Amino acid sequence: MMTNPTIPKLNFSPILPLIPQNVAVIGAGAAGLVAARELRREDHKVVVFERENKVGGTWVYNPSTESDPLGLDPTRVVIHSSLYASLRTNLPREVMGFRDYPFVAKNGAQRDPRRFPGHVEVLEYLNNFETDFGLIELVRLGAEVRRARLEGGKWKIRSRMRVGEELDEVYDAVVVCNGHYTEPRIAEIPGIETWPGLQIHSHNYRSPEPFQGQVVILIGSSASAVDICRDIAGVAKEVHIASRSVTVGTIGKLPGHNNMWLHSMIESAHGDGIVVFRDGSAVCADVILHCTGYKYNFPFLDTNGIVTVDDNRVGPLYKHVFPPLLAPLLSFVGLPRKVVPFALCEIQSKWIAGVLSGRVLLPSSDEMMADVEAFYRTLDASGIPKHYTHYIGDSQFEYNDWLASECGYPPSEEWRKEMYSAAIKNMEVRPETYRDEWDDEDLVAQAHEDFKCFSK
Ligand code: FAD
Repeated sequence: MMTNPTIPKLNFSPILPLIPQNVAVIGAGAAGLVAARELRREDHKVVVFERENKVGGTWVYNPSTESDPLGLDPTRVVIHSSLYASLRTNLPREVMGFRDYPFVAKNGAQRDPRRFPGHVEVLEYLNNFETDFGLIELVRLGAEVRRARLEGGKWKIRSRMRVGEELDEVYDAVVVCNGHYTEPRIAEIPGIETWPGLQIHSHNYRSPEPFQGQVVILIGSSASAVDICRDIAGVAKEVHIASRSVTVGTIGKLPGHNNMWLHSMIESAHGDGIVVFRDGSAVCADVILHCTGYKYNFPFLDTNGIVTVDDNRVGPLYKHVFPPLLAPLLSFVGLPRKVVPFALCEIQSKWIAGVLSGRVLLPSSDEMMADVEAFYRTLDASGIPKHYTHYIGDSQFEYNDWLASECGYPPSEEWRKEMYSAAIKNMEVRPETYRDEWDDEDLVAQAHEDFKCFSK
């Protein structure tokens, strides 16, 4: 296991006696793995339930797609990962990795040394993380949590093995790490019921071949949308991007592409195959591809209405983690969006582990509730819609550093913040080539200097 001379295991001398808890972690993606590591570091007894037969969550590429290409049919067999075959990371590896387990290039036949590697490399990194921290013994593969319910101050967890019976067990605390890129959100389009073409959500996009010679309308402007439209443009007849964030002057044919156009949002769809955009243009299309994001979904969680999902706001949650009325016995890792997920999950997990053992104190539930209400009022006052509650993008480092100070961990490194900003800017300036061209070599050098203390 890697050692870390600069970041101590426990930074606070315990004021209270440390109390080990029996903790159920739901999901063994990046969030669940790092939560398991942090909980065990504080001597909690941990079981990680993982529905799939492998750890890694999103990063376990699955070439299969769901029977309903829009992912709306509740009876469909759910495929967890939304990865497409060509996916490379949208963050540089130095920023993307856990803070005390750097994501450095490694030698080996399966390894991808690029700074923005393909998805297989990320899964290798997570597998190495699991092995190096001996987490295998904590994870129950093929075990889906069907229900988690608080009864008499304890959590009753009902799980079902892929092969075998349902099992009921009792835990002190539950940490929810089930990911939020599986349940599609789709765009509402007037007239879509009569439109004869194929609709699919990016959750079920794997490769461009099925779009050969087709006219495709792609809705969205996220990092996935940017990748997928370029993937498809190589084989499709035409690709039309419908985006909410277009500005006057950018509408029309995209420079550098002979078959890609940018439009405003879709106004309506019609029975003759025509789709009309708000900018007045119209296209007869074969496919509408929704790259329109995902919904939070916790079908197994029964909190008696204490925690709800309302227009993609999971709440009430203190600092996106603890429901004030159920803290610290219920917590969520990895809900914030537009962030660097691994490092954020790592610091949230440290906080949860410390709070559960009594080493780190939370405010009273009234104080936490007041904080949540004040946060919601700030969002309202700034005109931020409810469904952006967990979009903390610009304030993510401030958020991480607040959590770090709560658990006695150092704040984010300056190079990490600067590199993240540089990467986002580079992506905007060079959408086609940002993964292979950059100007922040000085920051890469600083990162590698820092990483030296983590090498074996
Ligand atoms: P997940 O990885 O989704 O893991 C959740 C786990 O919970 C899964 O293994 C699932 O099987 C399990 N589970 C769910 N329900 C149950 C249940 N009831 N019982 C038991 N187990 C259950 N992040 C980056 O840092 N860089 C990138 O370049 C990047 N690109 C991305 C591209 C795409 C297309 C997508 C969708 C996401 C991307 N992300 C990227 C974000 C990515 O989701 C995070 O990096 C990270 O994988 C989130 O980890 P997680 O553990 O929260 O969720």
